[in-house]
Amino acid sequence: MSEKGSTEGVESNTAFHLASVRAAIVRSAQEEGRNPNDVTLIAVSKTFEAEAIRPVLLAGQREFGENRVQEAKAKWPALKEEFPDVRLHLIGPLQSNKVREAVALFDVIHSVDRVSLVRELAQAQANLGVERMPELFVQINTGEEPQKAGVAPQFADAFIRECREEYGLLITGLMCIPPANDPPSPHFALLNKIAKRNDIRSLSMGMSADFEQAIMLGATHVRIGSAIFGGRSAGM
Ligand SMILES: *Cc1c(COP(=O)(O)O)cnc(C)c1O
Repeated sequence: MSEKGSTEGVESNTAFHLASVRAAIVRSAQEEGRNPNDVTLIAVSKTFEAEAIRPVLLAGQREFGENRVQEAKAKWPALKEEFPDVRLHLIGPLQSNKVREAVALFDVIHSVDRVSLVRELAQAQANLGVERMPELFVQINTGEEPQKAGVAPQFADAFIRECREEYGLLITGLMCIPPANDPPSPHFALLNKIAKRNDIRSLSMGMSADFEQAIMLGATHVRIGSAIFGGRSAGM
């Protein structure tokens, strides 16, 4: 097969995968009596180059997720010139010293998880003005895994209150990544419960393997990588 031929094959594959994922989202939402438009598909493009992302853009996808600020900064400014209505979601951990770059590039940050970061975000908000700040979601470590980022469930209410009342941040969503070996549904249900009692509307939960269950439990944002782009090397 010629090099050109193989690239075209990959492109039509990603467009096909994207269409299948979109159809599955519509089906799951409708089964629950939910409006499919209330579920935002975030195509997680981490580790993939611009050439792999472009076909997904050409197929009409506009919301993308990245887990590293530096990687996103290298790929997205050029793609955003071509597709100015793209919205970028930071779904990985944010170091305090990258806050300024992150708020300039991302439209939503899903990984607010500690007071030192909240302090930097409040400073960025003071500099930029609240209307130019990304939307902020708090990450909850629903499985209380020591190696995983996120606020422990028992501290979630106090943390959200602190973000809002002491730092003036508008927290509009919650995010979780269930432990790899647990059934995910109890984690999604817990995230939903924490959101409800804190008057939070957006729920970022569900990945390639479990987004249908997440939609059944109220997900408003599903983060889907491998089901669209194919597999990544281990651990990414
Ligand atoms: C990589 C990643 C995803 C996408 O995972 P897939 O299983 O490839 O769909 C979703 N959320 C976060 C936080 C990620 O890091």
